[in-house]
Amino acid sequence: MGCCNNNYGLKKTMECPLCKASSEAVHYIVVETVLKKKIKNQVIPDSYYTCSNEDCDMVFFSEDHQQMFLTQDIDFSADFNKVIKTHDGCSGGCGGCGKGK
Ligand SMILES: [Zn+2]
Repeated sequence: MGCCNNNYGLKKTMECPLCKASSEAVHYIVVETVLKKKIKNQVIPDSYYTCSNEDCDMVFFSEDHQQMFLTQDIDFSADFNKVIKTHDGCSGGCGGCGKGK
């Protein structure tokens, strides 16, 4: 338990532009992984944030809000559950938290 608690504690957060919920920074590779094919190429190597509010349509947005990816932009056949909205715990086996450093 608590396998992610050894991290630096420096998670960047921003307000979601839609619902104002706290949104945590995610690696752009994660964004690219779950977006629909036709918009994958819009992803740039920059900071993205993911809204933690499950009722919100916003899934990813870029730091400057120039890019916003909503639930309709997500390919749900991708490995979605592994990378999004699972940051509250590592019950899934820490597949995501040890990476991306
Ligand atoms: Zn939101």
